[in-house]
Amino acid sequence: MIITIDGPAGTGKSTVSRLVADMLGLDFLDTGAMYRAVGLEAIRRRANLEDPRELAYIARLCRIEFDWAQKPPVLLLNGEPVSHLLRSAEVTQAASYVAVVPAIRELMVRQQQRIGREHPDLVTEGRDQGSVVFPGAELKFYLDATPQERARRRVRQLRERGELVDYHEILQGIMTRDHRDSTRTVGPLSVPPDAEKVDTTNMTQEQVVNLIVLRARAKGAAQRP
Ligand code: C5P
Repeated sequence: MIITIDGPAGTGKSTVSRLVADMLGLDFLDTGAMYRAVGLEAIRRRANLEDPRELAYIARLCRIEFDWAQKPPVLLLNGEPVSHLLRSAEVTQAASYVAVVPAIRELMVRQQQRIGREHPDLVTEGRDQGSVVFPGAELKFYLDATPQERARRRVRQLRERGELVDYHEILQGIMTRDHRDSTRTVGPLSVPPDAEKVDTTNMTQEQVVNLIVLRARAKGAAQRP
């Protein structure tokens, strides 16, 4: 069973997807981490983020794999475990430039589809998983929340990690990324017609997880032993 969970930044997709995968005994794929890894490589090579050709060149030098033995799987960039380096503000910004380059999206989509063949029991989260990468997925969800609520969640998360952050700056960043995500020409953020849209603004993470697990079990997903 492939379950796709798409939606904008800050809807809790990552945590929800991970918990759902864990409860159902499915593998978990964080596709944002793949774009972030290319962003990290672009920063390391001091690339011009405004130059799509340079970014596409760099993406081709990135061998992206996952260590599936770890929970959640650790991303290996040319053999180096980098998951712990992917969530900084700098990498977040670089990834949003990377993600608009059509040649890079093609590369990532192909890799994600290969992963789907190798891990056919999968919860995969991103922006285009139900619409472009796995149009035939058994279950599709689109998580949403107001930009203000998403900014509040992100601020809480970053403060818990000890980072100094400003709510208005985070809100601005979220709105800029939403705009870039939904207006790009290839793989824009969109609600797949056959996805269930879940407004998480007034829901707890546990409620969202339970809803998805319930739907999956109704479709015959196995209970975790
Ligand atoms: O979800 P996350 O914040 O980790 O995504 C990082 C970047 O990659 C974002 O800019 C997002 O738009 C992009 N992305 C994408 N397609 C995906 C997953 C993420 O364009 N399937």
